[in-house]
Order: sequence, then C-alpha cells, then structure tokens
Amino acid sequence: MKSWKTKTGVRIYRILNGRCNCYLISNGNRFLLVDSGTKRDWNRLNKRLDKLGATHASLVLTHCHFDHAENAAKLKQTHGTPVWVHRSEGTCLKNGENPVIQGSTPVTKLLIQVLRWTRQLVRLNYAPVNHDCLVDERLDLDPFGFPGYILHTPGHTPGSLSVIIENEIALVGDTLFGIFRGSVFPPFADNPKLMVQSWKKLLDTGCTTFLPAHGSERDKAVLKRQYDKYIKL
Ligand SMILES: [Zn+2]
Ligand SMILES: [Zn+2]
Repeated sequence: MKSWKTKTGVRIYRILNGRCNCYLISNGNRFLLVDSGTKRDWNRLNKRLDKLGATHASLVLTHCHFDHAENAAKLKQTHGTPVWVHRSEGTCLKNGENPVIQGSTPVTKLLIQVLRWTRQLVRLNYAPVNHDCLVDERLDLDPFGFPGYILHTPGHTPGSLSVIIENEIALVGDTLFGIFRGSVFPPFADNPKLMVQSWKKLLDTGCTTFLPAHGSERDKAVLKRQYDKYIKL
C-alpha cells in the first residue's frame, strides 16, 4: 500500500486505489479516512482498516459523489463511523443523492447530457447516511489530534473539501485530477471558474504534494502552471 510521511511523522496511506483513491491519515492511534470508495471496494476497505487497527477512524467526505460516498452508510453501520461533510452537501448525503454532475470538456458535457436524457444519473444514487459534523470554510484538526485543517475548495461540487496536513500534503478529492500528464483539470466540474480559484487556495497553503482521488500525485509546479493557464480563460 503506497504511503507518504510528513516531516513530523504523520503517515498517509492510499488505502484504496483504482476507481477512487481513498486515503487514511494516521497519527499514532488516531485515524482519519478521506473518502470511502464504491461499494465493490467495501471488502478491501474494511479488511485494510482492520489490518491497520483503524476501524475507529472518522470519515471525511471530500464531496458526496457516489464514488466517494458509497461506503459511508456501511462504515457507520459496521463501525459507528462519524461522517464529516461540507454543510452544502449534508442534504445530498442524507438522501443518498449525488450533488450535480457537470461535464467540463465538450466530450464529458455531451456524456452527462446523454446520461440525463436517458435517466441514467439517478442510478448513481447510494445508501443515505446522516452526517455527524458539518464543515464550513475551515475546520481545524488539532483538537482531533492531527496537525492540519479541512479547507472548503468548491468548484468540482459546491461542497468540495480538501484536507491539508502540516501545509505540506493536501488531499484534494476531485478538486484536481492526476490522470492526464501535465494536467490537473478534472473532466467534471459544477463550476470550473470557482474550482480554479480553489486551486489558488491550495497553492496558498504552501503544500508541495497534492493527492487526488483520481490518478496519481501532482506537485506544486504543475498545479501552479495549470492555475496560470486556466485563470486567464
Ligand atoms: Zn466527484
Ligand atoms: Zn470522483
């Protein structure tokens, strides 16, 4: 399992990869799970949490798209996992609904239109779950035993969140993608302009490593180049 370590020894495991990368932040015996993956990942996720002694982790959802939130209800059912989400997506989670999905390129715009016409999008709904903590602009993680904070980075969805650890590593959900070489622009975004402004917020944290939910890590230089390009469009 791939992992990263910050200067003071906080460990970040990529506990699931593939369809949606999920990360587990570990500081001693405290754990924070960032995203929960899809239901076909459930067994793998549950086994790995158990192996790492992290079944008591709290869950932060970077946003409520199904590929991130599908195991949230089962985690709560099985382990009593507290679920944290941005205030603007609390209702989506309670209803098991995706926040609006919008294409951000000609191809993905067309794809979403077709899915909407054929009523396929509703099939992406998931088991509903109540949230335990609502995040606004920023939530300090020090009281929970982690040197960092959760930051509102909207644009991919209205309530997209990033988890910032020691202003060194950022877990960014779908606020940026790591799939296409030299690019961080996600193929889906509710409000691309706002998302690019969120990239600036991420750059301003001083973080040097950005871990997306899709694809591989991106460094600060790539994010800065992409910000400079897209802010002018
Ligand atoms: Zn998403
Ligand atoms: Zn996603």
